Amino acid sequence: MRRRLIAGNWKMNGSRESLAELDGIAAAAGAAPGVDVAICPPFTLIERAAARTPTLPIGAQDCHSAPKGAHTGCVSAGMLAEAGARLVIVGHSERRAAQGETDAQVKAKAEAAIAAGLTAIVCVGETEEQREAGEAEAVVSAQLRGSVPVAGGDVLVVAYEPVWAIGTGRIPSLEDVRVMHLEVRAVLSDLLGADRAEAVRILYGGSMNAANAADLLAVPNVDGGLIGGASLTAAAFVPIIEAAA
Ligand code: 13P
Repeated sequence: MRRRLIAGNWKMNGSRESLAELDGIAAAAGAAPGVDVAICPPFTLIERAAARTPTLPIGAQDCHSAPKGAHTGCVSAGMLAEAGARLVIVGHSERRAAQGETDAQVKAKAEAAIAAGLTAIVCVGETEEQREAGEAEAVVSAQLRGSVPVAGGDVLVVAYEPVWAIGTGRIPSLEDVRVMHLEVRAVLSDLLGADRAEAVRILYGGSMNAANAADLLAVPNVDGGLIGGASLTAAAFVPIIEAAA
């Protein structure tokens, strides 16, 4: 039985002042013991966030695949763990697009994260053009085959985030979500074996909010959410935690 995971991705938002939002989020997480809740703030806030709400897992939004070395501006998974992070998002579509990250790089990052003791959230998702061309499942399947590390189970999480649903207020039909999450489970089963694939949480991400969370979470194989805009305040995020409880 997979525990639901409701994870917030603050992207490049937030300040020390915004860490006050974590108090209400941690309280809601405490009131929902059957749900895993996490927040991924920018690198600079990880240590303070982890110290402020020790019961609330804090994550990062990227890591380098190497443990150390001449990689100016980068942060390793071990450094994140030392700062108090317990998970890390890798291969977000914003990084695949803006930083040109490839499936192979995403896979190496996920492997490094797991080796450092972190949970890796590997993101996949099609563009609007690809969906309109009827290629959504093929694109997501290829991304999974290229970016999922061989370590499966509960240290691996997959987030299906249709690029066209991120920050737009649009979401796929629940039937399209069902079909895609079933496809993700099938590909994971092929890659990892059925038993290990069954333990992997598959999150939905893209304009998830208080109004649509219950419907999305009721779809088979939707094991939680990766939430951007609606994770920035406790007022917006807590109802999503409650919907998952
Ligand atoms: P929004 O919830 O703001 O659409 O962002 C989703 C996302 O990209 C989470 O990683």
